[in-house]
Amino acid sequence: ATAPTRRYSITLLPGDGIGPEVISVAKSALVLAGSLEGIEFGFKEMPMGGAALDLTGVPLPEETLSSAKQSDAVLLGAIGGYKWDKNEKHLKPETGLLQLREGLKVFANLRPATVLPQLVEASTLKKEVAEGVDLMVVRELTGGIYFGKPRGFSKNENGEEVGFNTEVYAAHEIDRIARVAFETARKRRGKLCSVDKANVLEASMFWRKRVIAIASEYPDIELSHMYVDNAAMQLVRDPKQFDTIVTNNIFGDILSDEASMITGSIGMLPSASLGESGPGLFEPIHGSAPDIAGQDKANPLATVLSAAMLLKYGLGEEKAAQRIEAAVMDALNRGFRTGDIHSAGHKLVGCKEMGEEVMKSIESKT
Ligand code: ATP
Ligand code: MG
Repeated sequence: ATAPTRRYSITLLPGDGIGPEVISVAKSALVLAGSLEGIEFGFKEMPMGGAALDLTGVPLPEETLSSAKQSDAVLLGAIGGYKWDKNEKHLKPETGLLQLREGLKVFANLRPATVLPQLVEASTLKKEVAEGVDLMVVRELTGGIYFGKPRGFSKNENGEEVGFNTEVYAAHEIDRIARVAFETARKRRGKLCSVDKANVLEASMFWRKRVIAIASEYPDIELSHMYVDNAAMQLVRDPKQFDTIVTNNIFGDILSDEASMITGSIGMLPSASLGESGPGLFEPIHGSAPDIAGQDKANPLATVLSAAMLLKYGLGEEKAAQRIEAAVMDALNRGFRTGDIHSAGHKLVGCKEMGEEVMKSIESKT
């Protein structure tokens, strides 16, 4: 017997630049892969970023946020562009993204860095080092030194000007990100490395203590610890040693960018931001790429893979997620490449055509 139809509501936020082009492809992939797994989607497309600024005067209209909150998951394209770069802070597209993350209370940012066998040559690392890299950085997103108080500018006892910030983590903030990381490791290869600076920072000593406490709930996961300076080095020396990495806001900011550059394919990398309950936010890590917007040149695969993360981490629909991931691999295996990942001997295609090839691949594997 086949499982009954599952229905999910998805808020689509195409945004600016190449956003609408890549979202259109990802939406088709969701519909097709979903239909093969007994899933029906109700989509609501809402304005966000620069597009929303032009339309309503604010980067995140209330209707957009409430639609996002009421849905089962949110898929975002990209936001921003030259046109709004000189706007005041509260009228910048990027401010809308911060408000959206805040509104959805997403505290865990998941960023995979995978070197696909078809794209090994794009890596900044030597072939032997890059081949087979498949890791995930789980970054704490709403706490730590980026938000800690006190912060500001002042004068020290000598009357000299100083700037200062504070790293604060409460137990519940560490516990919840640790649980997301252990759960993520469980969906992957069962290995978790917690990155901190516990030899110097009290906030990190406490981080390590709480991660160890939570580990008792996950006896099946192999937990290790690494200082951040060593982790930065190991990521370029031997990235294959990592499965899942969990770390705080500032270390995660740096390490996830470092890890993504290992792959060398910005047009291929998805991300997920998850909260305790409520909808997750899924988006490619790349920006709105205004230099190629409207030219049908964008690589839609980062957004298509974000849709796969939406299925896997947002809805628990692993089979449909696997259909999309397999289709991306298949389209690459059949030689199709957008400009950003193109090399000699492959077929250069635009955004739409790459999308059509992914749909063919989903369809052929029924
Ligand atoms: P952000 O909006 O995060 O500040 P950015 O302006 O630093 O981003 P992007 O918008 O990601 O950078 O673009 C950086 C470069 O990568 C540009 O040359 C852009 O054309 C290219 N690029 C980004 N995403 C894609 C994609 N999906 N396909 C092809 N090229 C891309
Ligand atoms: Mg930009």
